[in-house]
Amino acid sequence: MVILPVALSGNAPSGAWIPTDDRDYLLVPATASPTRRRSILCHEVGHILLHHDPALHDGLTTDQMRSLAPNLPLDTTRRMLQRTGYTDIEEADAEHVGTALSAALEDVARAAEWESSSRLSSRLR
Ligand SMILES: [Zn+2]
Repeated sequence: MVILPVALSGNAPSGAWIPTDDRDYLLVPATASPTRRRSILCHEVGHILLHHDPALHDGLTTDQMRSLAPNLPLDTTRRMLQRTGYTDIEEADAEHVGTALSAALEDVARAAEWESSSRLSSRLR
């Protein structure tokens, strides 16, 4: 799985999942905050975990498409991107999984932080 920060703007999607034969690309806006990026990634991972058909979005320029998947023929990328989007139910389900995943990751990060600070304070004692 490759996470690609890309310049997405205008009516481009907030994130996207582009599966190829050898790997999955997850696109996130380069300018998003780490928190926003995590929730976008978790949402896209939600689609993967739920075995949704990758339904990619339109609204990307040819240049963006070329930079997203430089190893793919542009036609292939375009075809993938021009599929109709996910259904509302799929979106809601992915959002649900993404939110849970994001919360779990936050817990893990907080636990690691707590452990390292308690290790530090026991060393200082
Ligand atoms: Zn989605």
